[in-house]
Amino acid sequence: MSGTTHDRLDAHGHTHGHKHDDHYHTWVAPSEIEARVRAFESLLVEKNITTHDAIDTLVATFENDLGPMHGARVVAKAWVDPAYRARLNQDGTAAIAELGYRGLQTEHVKALFDTETDHHMWVCTLCSCFPWTLLGIPPVWFKSAPYRAKVVSHPRDVLRDFGYDLPADVKVHVWDTSAEQRYLVVPLRPADTDDLTEEQLAGLVTRDCMIGTGKPLSRAEWEASR
Ligand code: FE
Repeated sequence: MSGTTHDRLDAHGHTHGHKHDDHYHTWVAPSEIEARVRAFESLLVEKNITTHDAIDTLVATFENDLGPMHGARVVAKAWVDPAYRARLNQDGTAAIAELGYRGLQTEHVKALFDTETDHHMWVCTLCSCFPWTLLGIPPVWFKSAPYRAKVVSHPRDVLRDFGYDLPADVKVHVWDTSAEQRYLVVPLRPADTDDLTEEQLAGLVTRDCMIGTGKPLSRAEWEASR
C-alpha cells in the first residue's frame, strides 16, 4: 500500500467529540460519507477507471481477509507454543509470515510481550499506521488526536479511560509505530485457560489487547460470548 493511499485514508479522521467519556471518538454523519463514497464510485466507473466488481472485490478483501482474527491466531500460538513464541520474539515478521500473513502494512512487525511487571501499548503519533493484515482497519479512536497525544504523556490515564486499571507496580511502555515499524502486543494469557485449544484461545484475543489498550477476554467473558 503506498504512502499516498495511506494519507488519503487518514484524511477522513476529522476529530471532534470531546464528550466526557468519549475522548477518542470521531463523529462524521454516515449519510454524508455514504453520499460521497457513492458519488466517487460512480465517477470512477463512469470514467472507466474501475468497475463495480473490482470495488466489491476490494471491499470483500477488507471485510474477510484482513482483521483481528489473524493477529489473534499469532497471539494464541505464542501462548501455547514456546518455540513459536521464541521465533516471534526474534523476528516478528518472519514468524507471522509462517501463518501466511504478510504485506498490507505488515512488513516489519515487532512483537511486544507483556509480563507480570511490564505492559506494552502502541500508537502512531504521526498519523494512523496500523498492521492491517493482523488487525484490520484502525479504529476511529486510534486515529484521533486526543489518543495520539495523551497516550504518550499519560498512558495510565488512557488505560483507565478504556476501563483498564493497570496495577501501579506494572511498568508501561509506549511504542510509536511508523510506516517502517509495526507492533503487536502479546498480552498475558488469561487465567484458567489451560484446557482450551489454540483455536479457542484465539477467541479470547481482542483487537484492543493487541494494541495494548485492552485485555483479552477472561474465561468467563469468553464463555458468555459463545
Ligand atoms: Fe501513521
